[in-house]
Amino acid sequence: MRDAEPSGGEDVDVVVIGGSFAGLQAALTLGRACRRVVVLDDGRPRNARASHVHNFLGHHDPAPAVLQEAARTHVGDYDVSLESDRVARVEPAATDRLTVTSQDGRTWQTRALLLATGLDDELPDVPGVSDLWGEDVVACPHCHGWEVRDEPLAQLGFRGMPARGVERALLLSRWSQDVVLLTDGDELDTTHHARLRAAGVTVDTRRVRRLVHEDGRLQTVEFAEGTALPRRAVFVVTRQHQQTDLARLLGCDHVEDGPAACAVVTDAKGRTSVRGVWAAGTTTQPALLAIGAAGHASTVAVALNNDLLEQDLQAATSAADRVRP
Ligand SMILES: Cc1cc2nc3c(=O)[nH]c(=O)nc-3n(C[C@H](O)[C@H](O)[C@H](O)COP(=O)(O)OP(=O)(O)OC[C@H]3O[C@@H](n4cnc5c(N)ncnc54)[C@H](O)[C@@H]3O)c2cc1C
Repeated sequence: MRDAEPSGGEDVDVVVIGGSFAGLQAALTLGRACRRVVVLDDGRPRNARASHVHNFLGHHDPAPAVLQEAARTHVGDYDVSLESDRVARVEPAATDRLTVTSQDGRTWQTRALLLATGLDDELPDVPGVSDLWGEDVVACPHCHGWEVRDEPLAQLGFRGMPARGVERALLLSRWSQDVVLLTDGDELDTTHHARLRAAGVTVDTRRVRRLVHEDGRLQTVEFAEGTALPRRAVFVVTRQHQQTDLARLLGCDHVEDGPAACAVVTDAKGRTSVRGVWAAGTTTQPALLAIGAAGHASTVAVALNNDLLEQDLQAATSAADRVRP
């Protein structure tokens, strides 16, 4: 990162970018450690299209907006400011500071930046998938499998990534004995076929033309040659991307290949490869459920708080050494 002049704005202990499960939990942990925190969020949590958050201990399947509002009210008890704005850029300021600038032009100075900016899902390019996303088309059986257990289900692969579809169909077989893996034209190898057979999963390699739906509910999967397969829900493989390129622009290392491709690389504490920049939640671990993203962020926030304390102690010790005769 290049050095730049300080450019004003409030000086805070931590700026958190992303105010969803990870960002708000980090803000709560830091606020309760008597830190001054600003959270910037532009209101696009990954599960925005879902009507419920499942598998979150102590909460009986609330709407995402309800849980979000409760979390925002909770962090309001501490020295945490919530700003509804998108972060446009982050730049180095004085030696140990970063300047964070929002889209509407406001700036903050901070010693520590926590990226909790989450991921976007690129959906399989099949008509109907996007229309039903978050309802009868979902990705994660641990989130949405219980509600459709024992029903006729399909696992739709992502063309060009057949192994991912196989892996997900095997997982989905825990929830129903009627699972069809739709490879949408991809061929599978003999090992894949043997494992799917062992799990009781049927394979259909035909190209899928579209998902047919009525009043927002899935009716059938229609194949290119015209036949249709009735299903209660379709689980899909998605390809994930960072919601923002801030980490790349800052020079943070990313995972380049494999199931976690696009994740921001951190050490065990949550530090990225760039000094003063931390990351938590799905930004750095794409497979985390909502409660996992929050839990991870809490752990990172504890490490970040300790790191700031250590910096303060070292600065105080050096200052004391300088005045000692
Ligand atoms: C359809 C669907 C349904 C799901 N259902 C469940 C479920 O039932 N149970 C469950 O446990 N998990 C569920 N998940 C997974 C869950 O959504 C994620 O685990 C969780 O959202 C991750 O939280 P996060 O804080 O890491 O990221 P996110 O929730 O994605 O939050 C990232 C935040 O950062 C903000 N942001 C990004 N860039 C910027 C920027 N430059 N400036 C300001 N703000 C920015 C975004 O607006 C967003 O609010 C579901 C996912 C999907 C796709």
